[in-house]
Amino acid sequence: MDSVKKKRRKAAVNQNDCVACGCCAKVCPLSAIQVVKGVAAQVDGSKCVGCGKCARECPASVIEIREVET
Ligand code: SF4
Ligand code: SF4
Repeated sequence: MDSVKKKRRKAAVNQNDCVACGCCAKVCPLSAIQVVKGVAAQVDGSKCVGCGKCARECPASVIEIREVET
């Protein structure tokens, strides 16, 4: 087992620049990212595994994969 603190990756959306196109939501294998009220995408941190698929699809490049300590 790993004794060091685990770092997990999570997607984070810059909501100011999101154009709500929904491309990210379509490719997320876990449905962890959704466009809320047609305004901006939001990530459900409890579902996201940080795979980065959404970030690669985003035409506006507003999704960042961040490392968070758990
Ligand atoms: S990083 Fe992967 S799991 Fe997380 S929201 Fe994006 S596509 Fe979904
Ligand atoms: S793909 Fe990018 S611009 Fe489109 S809804 Fe997702 S975060 Fe917003």
